[in-house]
Amino acid sequence: MEAILVLTHADETGSALTRASLEAVTAGKELAERLSAPLTIAILAADTTAVAGILASTGARLLAVSGEAFAQARYASDAAAVEALCRAAQATIVLAPGSSRLTRVAAGAAHRLGGFIDTHITALGGTEAIEATRWFYRQRVEAVLSRDTRPWFLLLDAGTHAAFAAEPAASSVEQVSVELPALRTTVSGFRAPAQDAQTIRPDAKILLVAGAGWTKKQPDGQIHAAEAGELILGFLKATGASLGSSKSLVDQGGEGVPVLPFLTHLNQIGQTGATPRHAKGLSTCCHGEEPHVVGWRFIGDRRAISLDPNCGWARGKADVVYVADAFPVMAKVNALLDAKKG
Ligand SMILES: Cc1cc2nc3c(=O)[nH]c(=O)nc-3n(C[C@H](O)[C@H](O)[C@H](O)COP(=O)(O)OP(=O)(O)OC[C@H]3O[C@@H](n4cnc5c(N)ncnc54)[C@H](O)[C@@H]3O)c2cc1C
Repeated sequence: MEAILVLTHADETGSALTRASLEAVTAGKELAERLSAPLTIAILAADTTAVAGILASTGARLLAVSGEAFAQARYASDAAAVEALCRAAQATIVLAPGSSRLTRVAAGAAHRLGGFIDTHITALGGTEAIEATRWFYRQRVEAVLSRDTRPWFLLLDAGTHAAFAAEPAASSVEQVSVELPALRTTVSGFRAPAQDAQTIRPDAKILLVAGAGWTKKQPDGQIHAAEAGELILGFLKATGASLGSSKSLVDQGGEGVPVLPFLTHLNQIGQTGATPRHAKGLSTCCHGEEPHVVGWRFIGDRRAISLDPNCGWARGKADVVYVADAFPVMAKVNALLDAKKG
C-alpha cells in the first residue's frame, strides 16, 4: 500500500502555511481517500505550533521539522529536513508545492532516497496506480505519467487545487530531528522588490495584459507611453493584479521604440512565454493572436479591450470584448477603483 506524505512550509511571516502548501494538502487528502492510503503531512517552519492548527481536522499524522535553522530557505538545511521527514513517514508518494523553496531541494532529496521526481504536476488521478498529469511542449501536449520507482516525488503547480481551509484547532505534531550538515550559507534576510515594483503575482485573482497598442500612435497622432504606464500601474496598485504582456510589447525594448520600463520578458504570456492561472484576465491594447492567446489556456473569464472590432479576441477567443479606446476606459476603471477605496 502507498504511504502518502505531503510536504508543506510556512510563508515569509512564519505564522501561516503558504497557499501552495494548502493546495498540496487538498491534493494529498483527495489522493489518500481515493487509494484508502495513510496520509502524513509534514511541516517545515521555525515554529510549527503557529501553523499546525489548520491541519488538525485533516486527521492526518502530522510531522514537523522546526527551529531557527528552518526559518529561511537554504539548500543544506531544507534538503536534510525533507530527507528526514520522508524517512520518518516511510513515504512512497511525496506531494509538495512547486514553490521555489521546495523545488530547490526536492530533486536532491529524491536522489538521496533513491526515488524519482516529476515536476509541474497539474492533476492526480487513478484508483489502482497513481496517474500524474503534466503538460509538455508549452502546454500543448498533456501527458499522464505513472511510475514504479518509490519514493515518487510529485511537485504540484500552484493554482491547480483548492487551498485546504479549516478552523484552527489543537493538533498533535511529532517533531522529527534532523542531523544538520555543516552550514556554509548564512541567510541574512530577504531583499525583495517593493509590492508595486513586483508585477508578476501568480496568486492574484486577475491578470492584466498589456499589448503593443499602448505604445503605438494614438488617434491624435501621438504616442502616450508615460500615460500608458501610469494607467497600467494604477490598475495594478488598486487591484493587486498580476501583469502580463504580449511578445510584441516586450520585444520593443530592443527596437528603440518607447517601452514600459516595468515590463520584461518574464511578463510575456503565450506560446513562448508563460501560461499563468488566474480566475479572470483583462487584455488591453493587444490583438489576441493565437501564439499569445495559447498562454491564456488556464484563465477562467477572459475579457479584452481593443480598438479593432475584428481582432483575434473578437473572433471567439474572449468571453467579452469591449471595442473601445483603452486609455479612457482604464482611466475610468481606475477612478472607480479609487472612489471605491476612498
Ligand atoms: C513562433 C512565435 C511565437 C510567438 N510567441 C508569442 C508569445 O508567447 N506571446 C505573444 O504575445 N506573442 C507571441 N508571438 C507573436 C504574436 O503572434 C503577435 O505578434 C503578438 O502577440 C502581437 O502583440 P500585440 O497584440 O500586443 O500587438 P499588435 O498585433 O500590434 O496589436 C496591438 C493591438 O492594440 C490595439 N490598440 C491600439 N491602440 C489601442 C487603444 N488605445 N485602445 C485599445 N486597443 C488599442 C490595436 O487595435 C491592435 O489590435 C509569437 C509569434 C511567433 C511567430
